[in-house]
Amino acid sequence: MKIDSINILIVEDDAPIRNLISTTLMANKYNYELAINGNEALRKVTSSKVDIVLLDLGLPDMDGVDVITQIRGFSMLPIIVISARTDDEDKIEALDAGADDYLTKPFSVEELLARLRSTIRRLDYLNTVKESESSNFINGELRIEYESATVFVNDEEIHLMPIEYSLLCLLAKNVGKVLTYQYILDKVWVNTIESDLSSLRVYMASLRKKIEKRSSLVNKYIQTHIGIGYRMIKVK
Ligand code: CA
Repeated sequence: MKIDSINILIVEDDAPIRNLISTTLMANKYNYELAINGNEALRKVTSSKVDIVLLDLGLPDMDGVDVITQIRGFSMLPIIVISARTDDEDKIEALDAGADDYLTKPFSVEELLARLRSTIRRLDYLNTVKESESSNFINGELRIEYESATVFVNDEEIHLMPIEYSLLCLLAKNVGKVLTYQYILDKVWVNTIESDLSSLRVYMASLRKKIEKRSSLVNKYIQTHIGIGYRMIKVK
């Protein structure tokens, strides 16, 4: 994706922070739109072309986590939370609701730009997958429908977060092969920092749980190779 074709929605009620973010985006050739509360954010996400959402959690009309939940009801659009809430529980709540990433205020402009590049890389990867895979992926009870980015286990749809979906597509594309942590991080993350390995473990654990909950086979799809990486098993 070209940077100048990307439209970012900034959801922030605090004017100085809104200005800081919009100035940064403008200086780096991103297009952006503004929303000063949750309802306006939801309206813009449904009515205009938005590629990425930057979301404050403390909004005047509703909690940012509810905005995430509502967006996830109809879209896999990447959501990066930018919040003054620093507790782990707040982060986990936002990530569980479906946020892709979490930045704590005060944040550095460089960090924000790095997170954006990482998110765009993931969008690019998903677009490549969508264009290169003409048919659905089927492995035992697991089915990925690339066109609609939906995943089924035992014919029941499972709801994945965007990062989980990216991980699943990567494993599916390389079914039978062990993928190293570094390979996965390079494909699905970018500007890898140390903590990304622990995030990878968390997302992979959550992905496995969602698949295995619906599957009649136990531990059959994603195998952990301790100290090395992960592999999707080809089910007979
Ligand atoms: Ca706020």
